[in-house]
Amino acid sequence: MQPIYQPELKKVDTNSIKTTTMLSFVAFAVILMIIVWTLTTFFVDRYYSTVRAQEASRLAATIAKEYPGDRDEFEVFAVQAASTNGMFIRIDSPSGKVIFDGATTFKDTGSFDHDILTAKKRLADSDKPSIAIGIKENASDTRARMVYATTIAGLRGTDYLYIIAPLYPDQGTIQTFRNMLVYVSFIVLVIAIVLAIYLSKRITNPIERITRSAKELSRGNFSVKFNGEEFTETKELAKTLNQASYEMEKTDFYQREIIANVSHDLKTPLTMIRGYAEKIIDISGDNPEKRNSDLNIIISETERLNKLVSDMMTVSNLQSNKIELNKEVFNFVDVAQEVFETFEILNSSENYDISFSGCKDAYVLGDRSKILQVMSNFVSNAVKYSGDNKYVAIQLKRTNKKVIFHCIDHGVGIPQDELQHVWDRYYRTSANHERDIEGTGLGLSIVKGILTLHNASYGVTSEEGKGSDFWFELETVKKPSGE
Ligand code: ADP
Repeated sequence: MQPIYQPELKKVDTNSIKTTTMLSFVAFAVILMIIVWTLTTFFVDRYYSTVRAQEASRLAATIAKEYPGDRDEFEVFAVQAASTNGMFIRIDSPSGKVIFDGATTFKDTGSFDHDILTAKKRLADSDKPSIAIGIKENASDTRARMVYATTIAGLRGTDYLYIIAPLYPDQGTIQTFRNMLVYVSFIVLVIAIVLAIYLSKRITNPIERITRSAKELSRGNFSVKFNGEEFTETKELAKTLNQASYEMEKTDFYQREIIANVSHDLKTPLTMIRGYAEKIIDISGDNPEKRNSDLNIIISETERLNKLVSDMMTVSNLQSNKIELNKEVFNFVDVAQEVFETFEILNSSENYDISFSGCKDAYVLGDRSKILQVMSNFVSNAVKYSGDNKYVAIQLKRTNKKVIFHCIDHGVGIPQDELQHVWDRYYRTSANHERDIEGTGLGLSIVKGILTLHNASYGVTSEEGKGSDFWFELETVKKPSGE
């Protein structure tokens, strides 16, 4: 049996920018048209009446000025005024005699006698100088009109001026107006839809482009570049995502590095431990001197393992903000001196030239053991990377409000382009890989974490082949009483 082809129906996503913009624009156009239609249908009559009443009152004021004057001249003027305004003008004497009748200027007038009588009565009853009344026989009265009545000064006393204005533009005009409104509505709707399509396309273009790049990134392609051209907001988003992808690439790179480094660093002591343990079983087990020396190597290798694992834990704790400082006020110089003394032994045992130049007492507020760890780290790095001249200088400097610790060596130094990375986790400079100096690349990132917790400034200046100067500074505080 032939399979029935069923076209896949694409569901309209009502939450998408495209649909939302489209619906908003169409809604806007529809609301606009409803307002216009409502206004024209319900309020145009009232508005038209008000305008006509104002025109009639203005015309009455002009007539009052010209009247009575020269009779012939006035008639010419009144006929002209009536035709320009599309109104009917009549002036009656107080006794009701018609003085001027401008009926000829008003097409299809019929008789206004009845209207004038009504207006005359209303004016007499009213205490106002003029009145305007609307007259409409029924809802579709084509002769709906406004009668304006007032008094004007005549030759023999006060005369009555009646102005009658049609209130409906003729049906042809109305129809044309309605037709035009239909066209305008249609055009507005089309413009709204076109604008909505154009705008939503423009807005979604960069977003779709960024989404495509993000999908690439999620597949592990870190070289992907985000392009948010067109709008400031999308450019900003693309910039942030480029930054994020750069960071992800860096983390990914370091993670691979760390696995390589850590497995290497773990493997070396483990191989040694195994080797020496086998040696004890096979060879040195019966010779207490050799056995003890082999056992000491095993112990020092386990210590190395221990240090590596505890460094890793410290880094992870620093990263997850689990480390808390035990702050106290202590003498910075004493701690530096203590660090110097632990390393000083290398001067005699391994021919190092480690020196210490202190300063007068400087009290700081911080975690004493962590600051000691920072100093030890700088010094042990200097020792490790001091090269053949084995020179390491620990120098303290005091300024008005600060105390600065410098650890200077004349060793291998750090290439300029790698300087900023030495504080990153698991980072080891390219030169040290070649030399195969032991290290995990964790020490300085721990230092960075500790100093950041202390709000301390720190840094390094270094030149490849010439040596490095690692430093950090802490604010000094008042010497505690009793010290
Ligand atoms: P490591 O355990 O590798 O010494 P660190 O985080 O302490 O780890 O240092 C990171 C890297 O910075 C080192 O691998 C080394 O390449 C470089 N470095 C640190 N101190 C010095 C120094 N005094 N001289 C030259 N390079 C140094």
